[in-house]
Amino acid sequence: MRVVFIMALETAGFGSGFSRNTQPYLRCAQDKIEEACGVFGIYAPGEDLSRVSTYALLALQHRGQESAGIAISDGGSIHLKKGNGLVSEVFSHNPELEGIPAVSAIGHVRYSTAGGGFTENAQPLLISYRHGQLAVAHNGNLVNADELRGRLEKEGSIFQTTTDSELVMHLVARCGYRDLRTSLEAVLPVLRGAYSFVFLTEDSLVGVRDPFGVRPLSLGSWNGYYVLASETCAFDTIGAEIIRDVNPGEMVVINKNGLEGKQILPSSRVALCIFEYIYFSRPDSNIQGRNVHLVRKKLGRQLAREQPVSADIITGVPDSSLAAAAGYAEEMGLPYEMGLIKNRYIGRTFIQSGQEIRSLGVQLKLNPVQKLVQGKRVVIVDDSIVRGTTSKKLVNMFFKAGAKEVHLRISSSPVIAPCYYGIDISTYEELIASKRELEEIRREIGATSLGYLSRQGMLDSVELPEEDLCLACFSGKYPI
Ligand code: SF4
Repeated sequence: MRVVFIMALETAGFGSGFSRNTQPYLRCAQDKIEEACGVFGIYAPGEDLSRVSTYALLALQHRGQESAGIAISDGGSIHLKKGNGLVSEVFSHNPELEGIPAVSAIGHVRYSTAGGGFTENAQPLLISYRHGQLAVAHNGNLVNADELRGRLEKEGSIFQTTTDSELVMHLVARCGYRDLRTSLEAVLPVLRGAYSFVFLTEDSLVGVRDPFGVRPLSLGSWNGYYVLASETCAFDTIGAEIIRDVNPGEMVVINKNGLEGKQILPSSRVALCIFEYIYFSRPDSNIQGRNVHLVRKKLGRQLAREQPVSADIITGVPDSSLAAAAGYAEEMGLPYEMGLIKNRYIGRTFIQSGQEIRSLGVQLKLNPVQKLVQGKRVVIVDDSIVRGTTSKKLVNMFFKAGAKEVHLRISSSPVIAPCYYGIDISTYEELIASKRELEEIRREIGATSLGYLSRQGMLDSVELPEEDLCLACFSGKYPI
């Protein structure tokens, strides 16, 4: 009966593709692409896992600032603390988790793409079912979530959240195997989309990456135990060593018996999100052995070769574009300057809190250094353009500050299509490049000149073939 349910899911068409119009999350509040989430997991009995997990989540904070949470197992039950806000806010005072004789833990930082930013959607999610407790943290997005949810609701399931991540808990609970590994082997083939999951049971930590490997998930060692994280910068922060990336379609199970890795889903092609290199990941992280900062410098160098311009200074948009700007300047043999200063203390909540503040947005966060740019021909290097509103404001601010010419150079190709794999990229209509030619975009933004990096230029810089990457928002060709 239990197995039949999963098979019935498949034969009834669960997971058989998706409709582009069913995803509820396509919004772009600040004209900057937003990462969906960061996950962390650790198995280290007897250690202070509340503290270690908090430090790891602080390192992953750039991947999501709306909510944070940690679930800790003491070997018999799972304790959870989560809430809306930054890691430093949610875990500033932490009596709920302190002093727990911990065995393992998982953590999550969230930016809501699927399901909205309600408090109940904060992760990890924790359930109690007939075989005990189970917690999950998810980075990615399931493209057949609406379809699966509709079926489950019709059959009587009651959902506590509006996230796609909760689906996997329902499916695991329904298929009914006592062993989580067996349950996941039955459930995961039903899911379509991007997922890097970390699961926590009373005695085990389990990590899974979707067969396309869209979102990263790395495995490390810490004090003789194992850790999992969306990015290796979390390992550096807690003093862990990188072992390797979890393979697409692989499940790693960590418990008192050690580590066991198993390929549970066939991976016919990899589709790692190229934006992890361009923008999302922290510069000190390594993905597939490549350092993100160094890849960004290469993107900048290639951009200079493809889109050179006579100028006096090169500047980048903090923080994600600084490496590309440095690469561009090096290749051009021009001075790289800190032409834009970022205010690091303006939170998302504040910017969204009122129309007047929202319209100020960019000025509140970024300001040009007037004395530096006055009378100069300036090149601004940015990593991407989404709607174009930020670029327009930036260019305008530089002209107002006295720049003679403002040349905009983008270290990626034009974003022409939305993302369905857990990244907040707007609808087609909102994307400035989806229906406009280069000159039209330049005019709308008001730059003296505009140049994007070619798709081949991105591939050459990342040093991966197109078949190993997702480039869907640049090409409109969706791998899943
Ligand atoms: S569509 Fe773009 S942002 Fe989304 S996973 Fe693919 S490359 Fe990344």
